[in-house]
Amino acid sequence: MTTLTDSLDKFSGAHGASGYEDAVRALVVREFQKLTDTVEITPLGSVIGIKRAGGTRTRRPSRRASASNAPRLLVEAHMDEIGLVVTEIRDGFIRFEEIGYWDPRVLPSQNVWVHGRKTLPGVIGSRPPHVLTAKERKHALTLDDLFIDVGMTDARARELVSPGDMITLDRAVIPLQNEMRAGKAFDNRASVVALLEFLKQLQNSALAWDIYAVANVNEEDSALYVGAQTAAYAIQPQLAFCLDVTHAQQAGLNDEALPQTGQGPCIARGANIHPVVFEKLRQTAQRHALSHQITVYGGNTETNAWMMQTTGNGIPTGLVEIPLRYMHSAVETLALSDIQGAAQLLSAFAMNLNAADARALQGETFTRETARQKRDARKNAARRAQRQR
Ligand SMILES: [Zn+2]
Repeated sequence: MTTLTDSLDKFSGAHGASGYEDAVRALVVREFQKLTDTVEITPLGSVIGIKRAGGTRTRRPSRRASASNAPRLLVEAHMDEIGLVVTEIRDGFIRFEEIGYWDPRVLPSQNVWVHGRKTLPGVIGSRPPHVLTAKERKHALTLDDLFIDVGMTDARARELVSPGDMITLDRAVIPLQNEMRAGKAFDNRASVVALLEFLKQLQNSALAWDIYAVANVNEEDSALYVGAQTAAYAIQPQLAFCLDVTHAQQAGLNDEALPQTGQGPCIARGANIHPVVFEKLRQTAQRHALSHQITVYGGNTETNAWMMQTTGNGIPTGLVEIPLRYMHSAVETLALSDIQGAAQLLSAFAMNLNAADARALQGETFTRETARQKRDARKNAARRAQRQR
């Protein structure tokens, strides 16, 4: 059986910047096939694993996607990572641009993979300090100062590498003390691992809702969240959860409003989060004595929760976050227990869902009938009853 550690090693080590998710998608498909009844891929490349309501998993390789009347719970994590992309090759040195939001100051001296016609190991080089002017030494390096060396002649590099090829960090997971881990792409593969763990925990339970586990493309490349938007539109769930990472306290960032690593997953609250969903999730954590923290967002959570909330007729949306230090670097750092905690919280929530919960989300909090509409409805019902007599 794969442990959480193995799973994080595997998914952190997979390569897939936004728009280039093929390799990580293949891994997700393989895991979803073990854990869900049906696996589908959206036109944009997000993966949907459907676990049907009822008993435990059926072994039938079914395509009965529309066979269920059960309410739908969507739980998603984006599977893309921030990366780099080749722009040009000059004298054998590869120039590049960012995919997603980088601090270029963390890039010099990193090991990378250049995913050309072959996957080539490379290093990000820069000019040695000896040749810099006093003025240059005072300034941080920018992307224009950096280049990748794959050790090839210009001609050979041009044969194997083309503008538009993906570049990702080469970084194995580093085990730290206290079951902490550091590595690349924990944003958001830690959540992909939590999503798989969530599905594992549901394997032998009877569920009243269909579970739609989704690994989404295209979160890091822009603020458009198109993977999450289109998958949510396809599924039209009664309730959706986004799983993502959030800034944890660290040296230089000890705002007490921020969560801490190792203290449990965060339950987000604020305008982007449906109040009933927040409350139910918090109650679930309390009832099961699961350690958790609360994160607060006045507006946009800058996660897929933002887009899912406004998809279709609007989807009641919640957000569960894993605290992470040094976000968008090669040494993103977290506690394994927070991944486990996020999975436990969501599986406890999913196991407790019943048909009345679906009605409550639709009826009481969505249609919000005015007093007059209610009165009219009562009159109509009375009239109908009279007619039937
Ligand atoms: Zn991110």
